Amino acid sequence: MNFTRLNISIRWKILAGYFASALLPCLLLYNEVSLFWTCIISISVSLSFALMAIFRIMNILGRVQQALTDREELSALKPAKDELRLIEESLDHFSEYVNKSQAASFDLDLMAQTRDFSQRTVEKSYEARLVTGEPVAGEVYVLPARDSMELVTSARLIGDRAREVFVQAVGVVIEGLNRLKGLDGLSEGDRGIIEFQVMILHDPSLELEVERALSSGENLLATVSRTFDSFIDKLKHSENYYMRERIHDFDDLRERLFGAIHKASGQEASDRFAECRGKIVACEHVLPSDVFSLHDAGAKGLISKENTSSSHAQILLSSLNMPSATSIEDLAVSLLNGHHVLLDVLKGKIFIDPKEEVVAGVIENFNNRKDDVIQGPVALKSGEGVNIGVTVNNPRIDAVHAKEMSPDFVGLFRTEMHFIGQKTLPSEQELFEEYSIMTNSFDGQLVVIRMLDLGGDKICGFDSKAAIEENPSMGQRSMRFLLDNPQLFRLQLRAILKLTHGELCLLYPMISGWSELHEINQFVERVVEELKFEGHKVKVPRKGIMVEIPSIVTRFEDYVDHFDVFNIGTNDLTQYALAADRNNAAVSQYFKAHHPSVLSMISKVARLCKEKGKRAIICGQMGADLRLLPLLIGLGIDNISVNWPYVSRLKKEVTLLDKQECNRIAEEALACSSVTEVERILDFK
Ligand code: PEP
Ligand code: MG
Repeated sequence: MNFTRLNISIRWKILAGYFASALLPCLLLYNEVSLFWTCIISISVSLSFALMAIFRIMNILGRVQQALTDREELSALKPAKDELRLIEESLDHFSEYVNKSQAASFDLDLMAQTRDFSQRTVEKSYEARLVTGEPVAGEVYVLPARDSMELVTSARLIGDRAREVFVQAVGVVIEGLNRLKGLDGLSEGDRGIIEFQVMILHDPSLELEVERALSSGENLLATVSRTFDSFIDKLKHSENYYMRERIHDFDDLRERLFGAIHKASGQEASDRFAECRGKIVACEHVLPSDVFSLHDAGAKGLISKENTSSSHAQILLSSLNMPSATSIEDLAVSLLNGHHVLLDVLKGKIFIDPKEEVVAGVIENFNNRKDDVIQGPVALKSGEGVNIGVTVNNPRIDAVHAKEMSPDFVGLFRTEMHFIGQKTLPSEQELFEEYSIMTNSFDGQLVVIRMLDLGGDKICGFDSKAAIEENPSMGQRSMRFLLDNPQLFRLQLRAILKLTHGELCLLYPMISGWSELHEINQFVERVVEELKFEGHKVKVPRKGIMVEIPSIVTRFEDYVDHFDVFNIGTNDLTQYALAADRNNAAVSQYFKAHHPSVLSMISKVARLCKEKGKRAIICGQMGADLRLLPLLIGLGIDNISVNWPYVSRLKKEVTLLDKQECNRIAEEALACSSVTEVERILDFK
């Protein structure tokens, strides 16, 4: 043992041991300690050192033992080289197996669903959140996926040839976009989308980036793809919802550029739309350029699994009045090829392989929508009048249909359409013209025009705050947003106050109390004075508030004398009263407008309005549910506003009801303590 290599504390212990066993007895004897005590002390000290040494040795042995076991376990875990190879092999087998079994399960799904589609006796139907146009039925053609990435790797366009092709392709795309801009039926907003795309193509940063990449020998298609990817990536991380929505415009533009590059370089890209004529085209996601291409290709209609109400594709679909059903959950698009489908745009549904009678029924329903129209106000069997109004979301499209339905009034004119998804603010004149479509169409009838209800799920393009609010439904929504953006409030208000319609009612959404109402009233007064000062003849409209926050209902006595119209927004009233997000399918079982608590609120508002001679209008989705009509009438409601497809149905239903029976139903429902009990009374299936 090499003493110098030992741990320092061990060295001291050994020295102490020598001292104890050899020097200590000598020291004791030298100090005249008796032999007996010298032996006792020396032996005890030596023994204690020996004991310490034994403990120490045992400790070390324990650790060595542990280390040996660890090593054994470790070597058991660590495979030998051969074992590693075996594991790799089995992983390969495993992934092959997973792939195969995935493919097998996909096939099974496919077979099951295909069988499901073709052998069914009852049609499978899906709810579509967004619909446009008229109902159509026809064969489905699944739009092939964009194959641009495949082209990127296959095409080798480099150097000066690539430069030449790029310039040519940009020119072709711009020319095509300008041609689209001239299409009939496009709104200013649609033209704005196209201009935005042209602007991107003119952007020097695109040209610079392409030039830089080409100079370093990169392939043109790869360059374009990467450049657009980086634009899109930036947009993806933008806090602004509107900017994020623009991703589709970039995607769309990239597709156009790819097509043009292939043409310009002499390689035809496959035409995805070649087989769309006369078909109902199905796709996962619809881009604005798809809408144009489908329109040009003569497609009969469109089904798209994904879409949002504020997407440009949706705006274009409605502008072109193309039959479409989009935003459809759980739709297996790839399985639809060759099947027949029916788009029931009146009900917001699609039917897969519908029976002929169903198709005929839906089309007939739509065609007969005018025959079914009941002109003028309707009354219950027992004689009491009920006014059925119409809700309008987009004057250019809805106003004509709405007018055809002969509603008794316009119960809700939503004005968000001109702001959602718009790149720039509309001008006062543009708004005035849009609103005039409504007031001219419904001359002499009550038109309830609602101030902008932006926020929540209705996000406008130019506000970045909405996108970053944690809980936008309870945030800067509606009048709160307008009070915070007085230039926007003023812009819309001026356009409305310039309307010369005798029966106009200005409606304030999402009111929670008098504090904001005082502020709103002062603001409106100021704008009225301003317009008068400018020489405009202003007829101050009637005023109304949305009853959609429970705080208004609990103190309804404080409001009823001060307004003429009270729009009961059951969509939000239910959402806020039951704390169930109206857009969250996961809590849909809690979102029930016929919950006894919501019914009590409706009953209170209806009763007080009647007492004071004020108008209470149901304007949420609840009003369109025929099963709830007797209940609403029984609660004292005699004004209901619904989307135009429901007007006739509701009017007809009203004539079949008896007030006493309705009162009985309402009384029983109000006495219920749960939704289930209410549903039992209403005979819900
Ligand atoms: C409502 O909340 O019921 C309503 C009619 O308004 P919106 O759906 O536009 O919020
Ligand atoms: Mg609302």
